[in-house]
Amino acid sequence: MNRFALVGAAGYIAPRHMKAIRDTGNDLVAAMDVNDSVGILDSHFPEAQFFTEFEQFDAFVETERRAGRGLDYVSIASPNYLHDAHMRFALRCGADAICEKPLVLDPGDIDGLQEVERATGKRIHTILQLRLHPAIRDLRDRVAAMPAGRKTEVDLTYITSRGNWYLKSWKGVTGKSGGIATNIGVHFYDMLHFVYGALQENIVHLNTPTKAAGYLEYERARVRWFLSLDVNDVPAEERAAGRRTFRAVTADGENVEFSEGFTELHTRIYEEVLAGRGFGVEENRVAIETVAHIRDAPIARHGDLVHPFVR
Ligand code: NAD
Repeated sequence: MNRFALVGAAGYIAPRHMKAIRDTGNDLVAAMDVNDSVGILDSHFPEAQFFTEFEQFDAFVETERRAGRGLDYVSIASPNYLHDAHMRFALRCGADAICEKPLVLDPGDIDGLQEVERATGKRIHTILQLRLHPAIRDLRDRVAAMPAGRKTEVDLTYITSRGNWYLKSWKGVTGKSGGIATNIGVHFYDMLHFVYGALQENIVHLNTPTKAAGYLEYERARVRWFLSLDVNDVPAEERAAGRRTFRAVTADGENVEFSEGFTELHTRIYEEVLAGRGFGVEENRVAIETVAHIRDAPIARHGDLVHPFVR
């Protein structure tokens, strides 16, 4: 049984980590969050130690380590801008890290993390759960079987409406979340790279706190993409049916359905990590470079490469 700690234990995604730790037969010995709304721990690990101050958490982990009860893994579900520091903490304690997306905000931090891996001999594993989605793996196999040189025409539309709270939280602060393309889009840019290969072009047509759009060209695809947090972007007929989200990916006009199961993959990621098949630091590089470029790129003139939802 592996000994886990969880940083960011009071957040939205933390229960998926607790469930994954439990469902893979492991133990959560300590949880940390600056917010103490962690009653959810009782449903998974009522015996876990809990800390709201990092120094006390650090002291506990160190005392345990000296007593021969070091951590095997630290799971990280804190705000994006803190991932880098929390991963470094995990490795320095002698544990591997399992860190939420986006691994870091800036590509330069990837090299720094690899140095810490080399110095400590410990590993960083990331939650890139779409890479394990059966529909995405199928698509990747089909693309690999296509004649070389042929490019698929892809439209990616992802509208996931959020209330006013979003822009008031860390998620609405670019320095903390990276902005909408980083925070919401990184899953998709990673998936596109995973399926369609090397990134060749990255043009941005729209970049606001609640919407972003652009054009990406990969070895094997030309992609028009649109992301939004605004319910008014959900097509009228969907809204009339009470839906506040709209997700569509088409490849050469054919629908790629992966909405189902997207949120259930944390346990699968943990299974892969524990079996020695986790996704490591380097596998994040292209997606992190993609979002860093989108964050600062000049807005291009709208031409025929623009996604149809950009008005
Ligand atoms: P959240 O704001 O609900 O949770 C973040 C938690 O971190 C909060 O409880 C907050 O109090 C805590 N925190 C803040 N500062 C801290 C600190 N210094 N030390 C310890 N804890 C601290 O956000 P969330 O939606 O749960 O997102 C958390 C992470 O998970 C983010 O990186 C996000 O991108 C990622 N996420 C991933 C998925 C996915 O599908 N893989 C989905 C949602 C979020």
